[in-house]
Amino acid sequence: MVKCTFCGKELEPGTGTMYVTKEGKLLYFTNSKCEKNFIKLNRKPLKTKWSERWQSNKA
Ligand SMILES: [Zn+2]
Repeated sequence: MVKCTFCGKELEPGTGTMYVTKEGKLLYFTNSKCEKNFIKLNRKPLKTKWSERWQSNKA
């Protein structure tokens, strides 16, 4: 079972998105929100309450 690189949630097979870095490393994300947070916003993986922080940081 793979886990989301950002939030640490386990991914069901066939769900989520896979991302390949320039280094050829595989990253997995539960959804595009996790992907954006990790790749575009360059946030560090947070395992708890990250969405609340994300909300408060959004503005
Ligand atoms: Zn996630």
